[in-house]
Amino acid sequence: MAPRAIPTSEPHMETSQKPTVETIAAISTAGGAGAIGIVRMSGPQAVPIAKQVFRPIRGGADRVGAESHRLLYGHIVGAAGEYVDEVLLAVMRAPATYTREDVVEVHCHGGPAAQRAVLAILLQKGARPAEPGEFTKRAFLNGRIDLTQAESVSSVIRARTTTALRAAVRQLEGGLGDRLRDLRRQLVSVLAELEAGIDFSEEDIDDLDREGLASRVARVCRQLEGLLATAFTARALEEGVRTAIVGRPNVGKSSLLNALLMRERAIVSEIPGTTRDTIEETLECGGILLRLVDTAGLREGRDHVEVLGIERSRAALDSADLILAVFDAAEGLSGEDRHLLDGVDPARTILVANKIDLVPTRGDGLAGGEAAWWGKSGRLSRGDGANSADSPEDLGELSQFAPPILVSATTGHGIDELRDAVSQLVLEGKDLDLEEPLLATERQRRLTEEAHRHGEQTVRALEEGLPDELVSEDLRAAIVALGAITGESIVPDLIDEIFTRFCIGK
Ligand code: GDP
Repeated sequence: MAPRAIPTSEPHMETSQKPTVETIAAISTAGGAGAIGIVRMSGPQAVPIAKQVFRPIRGGADRVGAESHRLLYGHIVGAAGEYVDEVLLAVMRAPATYTREDVVEVHCHGGPAAQRAVLAILLQKGARPAEPGEFTKRAFLNGRIDLTQAESVSSVIRARTTTALRAAVRQLEGGLGDRLRDLRRQLVSVLAELEAGIDFSEEDIDDLDREGLASRVARVCRQLEGLLATAFTARALEEGVRTAIVGRPNVGKSSLLNALLMRERAIVSEIPGTTRDTIEETLECGGILLRLVDTAGLREGRDHVEVLGIERSRAALDSADLILAVFDAAEGLSGEDRHLLDGVDPARTILVANKIDLVPTRGDGLAGGEAAWWGKSGRLSRGDGANSADSPEDLGELSQFAPPILVSATTGHGIDELRDAVSQLVLEGKDLDLEEPLLATERQRRLTEEAHRHGEQTVRALEEGLPDELVSEDLRAAIVALGAITGESIVPDLIDEIFTRFCIGK
């Protein structure tokens, strides 16, 4: 048999954390009953343990691992030779495996008892329970993937929309890591020239092209800014966009939420102010996950419970990335509505004129989502001459808002247009380019910001003619920050912290 391939000189070994040779095992499928459950093992003892506990239907235990990447059909047997479960056994020899170690997967029945029984037998034979994310951690430590790819494994698992999944899978291919390594290399080459200059300076050789170096670092900084601009999209994809629905009582906020969700989640009531608790619902809207926060309506509260609701509403408004400001199309925009819009960021807000079904039509019908302004009276105007719209100037502050979307929560009129407006606003009208690398995690964003800050300081130091030693200090810090994102320069404690956020078995 070929000697086991335990990589010793992989790219990530500068972390000083050696690959462990313990064999780990865990249930890798989700808890609860399912058709199939997978118990996974990784490490040097994976195949010997499988040989002890697996009986193929045809042939003997020597078939286990004789051929890599092959499924065997048989049984897992207990200490007394009893059948524990009927399974398929997948044996994958290093290094072409998830962890780059020998990996054995037992595909057993999906019930909790079956999976636990199989796992218990593997542990009895010498495997130890895997820690959260330990399989993926080994893939990283053994140099198969970088840290950004490891993190995207989590994103793939957590993805709740197809768009989020596509972005995460693209990350898994290593797009972000490639981009960051390229930028890091560019900085390293500047550092090399700078350090050569420092070494030679005693010999009075000082022909360093500081301007040239500064512009090279500045170019890297621009690219880092491009990456930082992706952080909002990435967060919107992964966590969802915090969306507040605000408006006076009874304008139809709960009904609108229901229309968006197309099911009865919020309690709709005809008594003003009964939506007292903020409730949170998520929905997919044009590939974007919205986390809707229904609110009690922004107005002076009459009783304690309502005041609490309003305080929460204000908090929701402050933290929201997107605001749906609802008013009653039939009643028109009241002073209270205008008051509510005071201090609300127009760039994050969509005005929603609800109950459009109650606005009398004059034969020509009113298209859902049709752009409309409202007249001096505060009533919606359709610009047909009889009731002509005010010019945007007359609207004062309101002219900063895009025209309202006309909807009826009751009939569903205009809801599709509202969805379009939402995804337009979140993606700022741009098509989401999932092929471009995204900064998917807070850790990646923070380190990119750090690299950018040190990069800018380097440029300033070069331009201001500060001593080379000071310049290289900042440049080094930028290089270290970029290396930490991909895992090229990172301390073992941090690695542990990243992987403990994974689920067990991944
Ligand atoms: P909220 O207090 O803003 O959450 O308002 P609700 O959703 O509880 O709605 C208040 C009342 O307006 C209820 O009687 C709803 O049935 C009614 N309503 C809501 N949306 C519409 C609509 O689009 N058209 C009509 N005709 N009535 C609506």
